[in-house]
Amino acid sequence: MYDCIIIGTGPAGLSAALNLKTYKKSFVWFGSKNLSDKVQKAEKITNYPGFPELTGQELFSRFTDHIQSAGLDITEKTVTNVMSVGTYYMVLADNEVYEAKTLILAMGVMTAKLLKGEDELLGRGVSYCATCDGMFYKDKEIAVLCNDPKYEHEVEYLADLAAKVTYFPMFSDSQIKKENVTISKDFPLEIKGSDRVTGLVLKSGKVLELDGIFCLRNAIAPSKLVSGLEIENGHIKVDRTQKTNLPGCFAAGDCTGRPYQYTKAVGEGNVAAHSCISYLTE
Ligand code: FAD
Repeated sequence: MYDCIIIGTGPAGLSAALNLKTYKKSFVWFGSKNLSDKVQKAEKITNYPGFPELTGQELFSRFTDHIQSAGLDITEKTVTNVMSVGTYYMVLADNEVYEAKTLILAMGVMTAKLLKGEDELLGRGVSYCATCDGMFYKDKEIAVLCNDPKYEHEVEYLADLAAKVTYFPMFSDSQIKKENVTISKDFPLEIKGSDRVTGLVLKSGKVLELDGIFCLRNAIAPSKLVSGLEIENGHIKVDRTQKTNLPGCFAAGDCTGRPYQYTKAVGEGNVAAHSCISYLTE
C-alpha cells in the first residue's frame, strides 16, 4: 500500500512527485518517460519565470535532468481504471493492480473526442483495456481503434483471441500483419447498440456488425477513469487545495481547467502534493 499514486507525467505530475519525494512519501508515478507531448512540442515558451526564452525541448531536458537528480521513477504504464475502496484506492495499470491511500490526478486534458455511443456502451461492448477484457471476445468479431503505435502489442493480443478484427490505426506506420486483421482507412463515427454493442458506423456510411470495440488511447476521460469523480464544465472540480469530491483524491494541471499553462500546472501540482501530505497526516 503506497501513500499516493500520481497519474500523469506532465508538469503537474512532476511538480507533485518532487514534493512527495521531498516529504519522503511512498508513491507510484504513472505515465510516459517522454513526459508530455505538450512539453516537447512547444516551439518557444516565453512565460516561464526565470527562463525568458525556452523551447519545449529545452524544458523537457531540464525536467528529465531534474527527475534523474531527484531520483524519481516513472512507471511507464497507462492507468485504465481507478476504484475507490472505502479508505484507499485500487488502480489498474496494464492489467496490474496498485493500491494507495491517496491519488493525484494530473492527466492533462483529453484532445480525442469520444465516439457517439462510446460513453453509453462503456462496459457493455466498449473497452479501454485489451488485457482486462480481451478474453470476453474469444472467437468474436471486434474493432480496435488505436492512437499510438505503443499499443500495437495489445492489438496483436486481441487478434490472437478474436475471430476477426477490423483495425483503425490513427497513425501511418502500423506494424500489424495478421490474417484475421483488416486495416481500415475509414473513420469510425458512431457505436451502435442499446443493451450491448452491435455495430460501428463509419464515415463512408458503411456499418460494421461487431461484438465489441476496443479504444486504445493515451488518455481516458477522468469521469470514465475514476467513478464518482465530480466534473464541472468538462474539467475535474477542485477547491483551492486541489481537493476533488472524493476523499484523498486531488487533481492538478490542465485537467482541472483553464488557463492551460505550465506554471499553473506546476503550481497546482505543488498544492495537490501538500494537500495530500496533510491528508495523510490527519
Ligand atoms: P500534460 O502536459 O498534458 O501531461 C499529462 C500527462 O498525463 C501526459 O503525458 C498524458 O499522456 C498522461 N496521462 C493521461 N492519462 C493517463 C493515464 N490514464 N495513465 C497514465 N498517464 C496518463 N503553456 C505555457 O504556459 N506556455 C507555452 O508557451 C505553452 N506552449 C504550448 C505549446 C503547445 C504546442 C501545446 C500543445 C501546449 C502549450 N502550453 C503552453 C500548454 C502546456 O503544455 C500545458 O498547460 C501543460 O503541459 C499542462 O500540464 P499537465 O501536467 O496538466 O498536463
